[in-house]
Amino acid sequence: MKKHNYSAGPSILPQEVFEKSAQAILDFNNSGLSILEISHRSKDFVAVMDEARALALELLGLEGKGYKALFLGGGASLEFLMVPYNLMKENGKAAYLDSGTWATAAIKEAKFFGETVIVASSKEDNYTYVPKDYEIPADADYFHCTSNNTIFGTQMKSFPKTNVPLVCDMSSDIFSRVIDFSQFDIIYAGAQKNMGPAGTTLVVVKEEILGKNGRAIPSMLDYAKHIKADSMYNTPPVFPVYASLLTMKWIKEKGGVAAVEKLNNAKAELLYNEIDRNPLFKGAAVVEDRSNMNVTFLLTNPEHTETFDKMWKEAGISGLPGHRSVGGYRASIYNAMPIESVQVLVDVMQALEKNV
Ligand code: PLP
Repeated sequence: MKKHNYSAGPSILPQEVFEKSAQAILDFNNSGLSILEISHRSKDFVAVMDEARALALELLGLEGKGYKALFLGGGASLEFLMVPYNLMKENGKAAYLDSGTWATAAIKEAKFFGETVIVASSKEDNYTYVPKDYEIPADADYFHCTSNNTIFGTQMKSFPKTNVPLVCDMSSDIFSRVIDFSQFDIIYAGAQKNMGPAGTTLVVVKEEILGKNGRAIPSMLDYAKHIKADSMYNTPPVFPVYASLLTMKWIKEKGGVAAVEKLNNAKAELLYNEIDRNPLFKGAAVVEDRSNMNVTFLLTNPEHTETFDKMWKEAGISGLPGHRSVGGYRASIYNAMPIESVQVLVDVMQALEKNV
């Protein structure tokens, strides 16, 4: 029996993506070859890459607006350094919002390149909220933020208006909600949460911001080189790109990001309502910043841990324990998580209340 997969990533993907991926591994497009063994320069794979890049822009409402989409290797963590390499001037300055562990990791890399200003941080409160009161230096080369803090279960509900280029790590909520994506100059997202298997990272770049920082950039780290090569500067992660394309097609068939957002809101509401109603549980993040992707919560009485853990495991749930820096539980309810699976968790929480 397939489990209700609450893992934070790699995480649940639509069933149809698994089925079509399996078919492509056996025989891709009736070519007599597996997707794992075809040349990335073959006509069939070039078509996959082109469609994936176009569909990413379409789902984000960014076609014809001067953006290019890339599917790169290296994970979102590589973008932590590619962003400053491509945008920060020699002796320049970058501004960062410190809203969690991944933001901190991005800040660490930026420091290799120049002055890195942390405009605000919620570290003192173990990142239970997203800081909102801050000023972005007008002379910063860019401002970097994290739209969804996977570990702490917080999510930015709005983004600052600024004249400096806006860069956002959307690894854990890409394609989950409608935002005016044209306010961003660079968006990046590791595939392995809402898009596909680990191994590729979607990077969306507004082309006009490149080539202005005067740095010599090694080829593999140069967005302009990847754009010029249509995301084929070197051998791309062929299978993760293909599976990501399947997921994006699934989103489009569902009615696009707006339709998926409605389902996500319903799932998050179902779970948060139970956390707030049930005296045995409490949310880990402040209510106004709660994430609709990673729901972090705790038992009000840790003595119930053993019983609760046994109950959710018996219900076929997997991947529920929280990250060690928060403790408790984290229910990652990405796009592909059906509301029926969220109901199974809610039922277990209610059964615990009856049991104790
Ligand atoms: N950014 C966010 C918000 C994440 O959640 C993660 C991974 O969980 C990363 C970056 C790092 O991604 P990767 O492992 O692809 O480098």
